[in-house]
Amino acid sequence: MSMHTLSISQMAKGLREGEFTSEALTRHYLARIEELDDEYNSYITVTPEIAIEQAKAADELIATGNAGVLTGIPIAHKDIFCTKGVRTSAGSKMLDNFISPYDATAVSKLAQSGMVMLGKTNMDEFAMGSTNESSFYGATTNPFNTDMIPGGSSGGSAAAVAALLAPVATATDTGGSIRQPASHCGLTGIKPTYGAVSRFGMIAFASSLDQGGVVARTAEDAALVLDAMMGHDPLDSTSNPTASPATTASLGDSLQGKTIGVPTQFLSDNLDADVKRVFDETRATLESLGAQFKETDLAAAEQAVATYYVIAPAEASANLSRYDGVKFGYRCKDPQDLQDLYLRSRSEGFGDEVKRRILVGTYALSAGYYDAYYRKAQQVRALLTQQILAAFEGVDMIMGPTAPTPAYELGDKVNDPVATYLEDMFTIPANLSGIPAISFAAGFTESGLPIGMQLMAPHYGEAALLNAAHQFQLATNFHVQAVEKVLEVQA
Ligand code: GLN
Repeated sequence: MSMHTLSISQMAKGLREGEFTSEALTRHYLARIEELDDEYNSYITVTPEIAIEQAKAADELIATGNAGVLTGIPIAHKDIFCTKGVRTSAGSKMLDNFISPYDATAVSKLAQSGMVMLGKTNMDEFAMGSTNESSFYGATTNPFNTDMIPGGSSGGSAAAVAALLAPVATATDTGGSIRQPASHCGLTGIKPTYGAVSRFGMIAFASSLDQGGVVARTAEDAALVLDAMMGHDPLDSTSNPTASPATTASLGDSLQGKTIGVPTQFLSDNLDADVKRVFDETRATLESLGAQFKETDLAAAEQAVATYYVIAPAEASANLSRYDGVKFGYRCKDPQDLQDLYLRSRSEGFGDEVKRRILVGTYALSAGYYDAYYRKAQQVRALLTQQILAAFEGVDMIMGPTAPTPAYELGDKVNDPVATYLEDMFTIPANLSGIPAISFAAGFTESGLPIGMQLMAPHYGEAALLNAAHQFQLATNFHVQAVEKVLEVQA
């Protein structure tokens, strides 16, 4: 088996038993990136010096016998996580010249656990998008078919992992950006409970919705990395002081007797036929593992997209006011006065989708419209959260498709932002209510594009989600087929 198809625990075993060193593993990945990433554009920045240095340090630690399971394992970070001394662009021209002076907490925690940073992955500008086409650095392609979108906004992370250019990657999810690209790229992606992973050093899009998490090839890999990322951080006032339960400990639990709710709202008649088929097959597999399915009602889910597209732009318009050409980031040439500096730095530094969000957000927050839009959206958010929590009184998890369709062609929806926004209908409820949710590869279209299914759990139910996906992966081999399909395309 080649090094790039090993799971994290297989890699850890190889390192521990001296089959290969972290330096060799790291060089192997760096060579693959060099050789193959022109095709995908999944990395914005590759960091070979840092990677080799961290790999050598990992090898020394492994030699002492004190290494942990993640020591010496390479990882890629979404370019929204600040990395000390390395460009952190958030996919924007605005931050193209920004070298972060510090590490995000998630990044430093993973480095402390011994992981080796390969580089920074491509993303929609400021994480606004579902296709990765809004990146200043150009679109990322889908490794299953490079004419297709990889999903977004963590499309670079998903494409890098799916193309075997990183074993695992960090990602962020404000309305679906971990789960939707994981679904389109045949991966497992988990968005943890709001507050479980520190947002310190994670460039803000919509602060009450943003959550860091992981995309990986399997639930087991995701669990290993997530456990090292979660935990209270005094530098993030919304980080939960109660420690999140370790997820790897639950990976052997049975699904016998677990109940899974299916909101009627998630299975409408116009759902894509392949997505519906994969949903039914996944349900049958989980039933054969002992889970019981029930219908649940989430009426407010129908308003989730509209609610999100008021709240997220409102918060974005406030968060992005810091980019003014003065303190850091892009500054226009020869500003005439302060007004001109603000105007031109922002007009030239931000792309179209970001500007659209700033306009919508500023409008929704302005006097006279605040009550009609922003307050209303907050009320619907509260109602939806109540309905979700009420649904969890009768079921352990809620299942639905991750996205209404498989990946589509690059360019297909660039001129129709609302069509793209509707892609998020199944993922947004988890962000609005702060609950954890996972997407796992559950099948393919006839032309071989992956389709993911989503499970949601109550707050701090990450372990249950990862275990359910793990049990599914023990019983099926879609995660293995995904790797085989990509290798075929690469051959
Ligand atoms: N697609 C959604 C948006 O454009 C979600 C993005 C995200 O989760 N970062 O806002």
